[in-house]
Amino acid sequence: MSVQVAAPAVELKELSGPMDKAAGPPCEPVTAHPPGHGVAAAPCPLSATEREAALAPSCSERPPGSGCPGLSSSAAGLPPGAAKVPQASAMKRSDPHHPQHRHRDGDDSSGAAAEALVSPDGTVSEAPRTVKKIQFADQKQEFNKRPTKIGRRSLSRSISQSSTDSYSSAASYTDSSDDETSPRDKQQKNSKGSSDFCVKNIKQAEFGRREIEIAEQEMPALMALRKRAQGEKPLSGAKIVGCTHITAQTAVLMETLGALGAQCRWAACNIYSTLNEVAAALAESGFPVFAWKGESEDDFWWCIDRCVNVEGWQPNMILDDGGDLTHWIYKKYPNMFKKIKGIVEESVTGVHRLYQLSKAGKLCVPAMNVNDSVTKQKFDNLYCCRESILDGLKRTTDMMFGGKQVVVCGYGEVGKGCCAALKAMGSIVYVTEIDPICALQACMDGFRLVKLNEVIRQVDIVITCTGNKNVVTREHLDRMKNSCIVCNMGHSNTEIDVASLRTPELTWERVRSQVDHVIWPDGKRIVLLAEGRLLNLSCSTVPTFVLSITATTQALALIELYNAPEGRYKQDVYLLPKKMDEYVASLHLPTFDAHLTELTDEQAKYLGLNKNGPFKPNYYRY
Ligand code: NAD
Repeated sequence: MSVQVAAPAVELKELSGPMDKAAGPPCEPVTAHPPGHGVAAAPCPLSATEREAALAPSCSERPPGSGCPGLSSSAAGLPPGAAKVPQASAMKRSDPHHPQHRHRDGDDSSGAAAEALVSPDGTVSEAPRTVKKIQFADQKQEFNKRPTKIGRRSLSRSISQSSTDSYSSAASYTDSSDDETSPRDKQQKNSKGSSDFCVKNIKQAEFGRREIEIAEQEMPALMALRKRAQGEKPLSGAKIVGCTHITAQTAVLMETLGALGAQCRWAACNIYSTLNEVAAALAESGFPVFAWKGESEDDFWWCIDRCVNVEGWQPNMILDDGGDLTHWIYKKYPNMFKKIKGIVEESVTGVHRLYQLSKAGKLCVPAMNVNDSVTKQKFDNLYCCRESILDGLKRTTDMMFGGKQVVVCGYGEVGKGCCAALKAMGSIVYVTEIDPICALQACMDGFRLVKLNEVIRQVDIVITCTGNKNVVTREHLDRMKNSCIVCNMGHSNTEIDVASLRTPELTWERVRSQVDHVIWPDGKRIVLLAEGRLLNLSCSTVPTFVLSITATTQALALIELYNAPEGRYKQDVYLLPKKMDEYVASLHLPTFDAHLTELTDEQAKYLGLNKNGPFKPNYYRY
């Protein structure tokens, strides 16, 4: 049986070098075969020396000629034409049923079922899906009619929950919550006299700078990109408007983009996740940043608008996390797309929106789906959660994990990470799943697969990781034992039916920041964390190193889209090619003093691979 896999929409090509034609004809789906069966593997953009250099401990120690996909030859210190840049492959979704491809906001209208069709020759393809209308919320804010502070906060929600329902309380040692003045009402200038920003308090810049410096130490690939692009700047002339969480890690990304030649304007993609000190540090160093922790929804859109609606400056690239910025430009300034070269999108939700636009024929520029890159999905989702689940639980509850009974709902990447961490701490872990494949994985990893009903009375902790809705219902909550801890690691706050707990017979007691006791009339109480929002981003920090991998992928996607010659990318959604994923991974290996084995010529021939990669076919599941 052969499997139809996504093919590059156009030929592989370096940014300023010869075309590499080995990837098949433009826009034609190719049939991929298992390794060793004559696969037309996309050639590695790095030579053996380059690859070796990519694994060298630091950029400055790299031999002359070491290359970097996405950087032009000269920027990467190569002779002209020496570096080859793989091109993103047009993404044809291989798994339309994947929960990540559905709405996160409880609206499953987009989930028009696609069916797998098996042709007589055994080829599996996807049945056409019903094109659904784009579900962007209406924007009705009028910025000149500004509400009061309370009014701002109580504005009805009109944006996706992805933007507003997860937030960070990560270490903020200059919490200025006592400062009631809205940043919009403050007149602030940085030390160079610029007032083109809006942050909580510019005076916090010094603290933020320290946070950024700490993050830099754990983001080796971005620092390497900066050093390598010191000569020619691959993003020279790029005007990037960004909408992401504003944390020390994204600050390192932003400053890297600046070092690569880009001008950036930035807003937060989430009303709670901005680290005020970091925003101040960015504003101090000249980045027009419009973000603070605890924005109202009106503020949220105002900040985005300040990034794009500025005299004498028009963006030509978008870096989005959640799709709200893209949506805003579509709604308010559609003409801007004439100058925009591409969109790079990180989140499940944003990618989903891009696909909707694409299917409706309304996507007017090429877009890169970073979310589904191996270096995002298989690292951020798995390792980030494996590292942060315990932290989030510990900080909020001080609990001991050994011997505790935990049920984890969903055994995808996030669920696997959570289960692994809890098992290692000696917890007894149960798993619930709807998918027999993930269920079997859970069984073979040594977890008991159960229905939630079967264990709900006995477990000490319930963790949702499904990306679904109403996984934990009021009935489940009623049946939980006293002191049961309930939390969510999925993107939206839809997984636990928290709304059902807001009834008169139940008492809510806020016992700590992000910790509520919900008390039943008979005295039973459950411990609800972060009101059912993303636990780790709400109650703990997340590991910088993992975010470095995602951020590097984003940077390379921007470089690739920005430098792509006219016509290379069409108005479609693309995945970065595996070669770039491999490159991102290789940039992070020196941290571990890792020694990668190289294929011999004989072995490469035997496997039908290029010695420099890519090493796996597109359909490979890591
Ligand atoms: P995934 O699709 O790999 O896994 C989700 C799993 O849940 C699937 O195996 C699915 O079969 C299962 N599932 C769906 N409905 C279920 C139900 N009712 N009961 C039991 N199982 C069910 O996705 P993922 O990468 O693991 O991500 C899961 C969620 O976590 C998403 O919302 C994602 O956006 C979010 N996420 C969170 C973080 C974080 O830092 N907390 C990081 C990445 C992703």
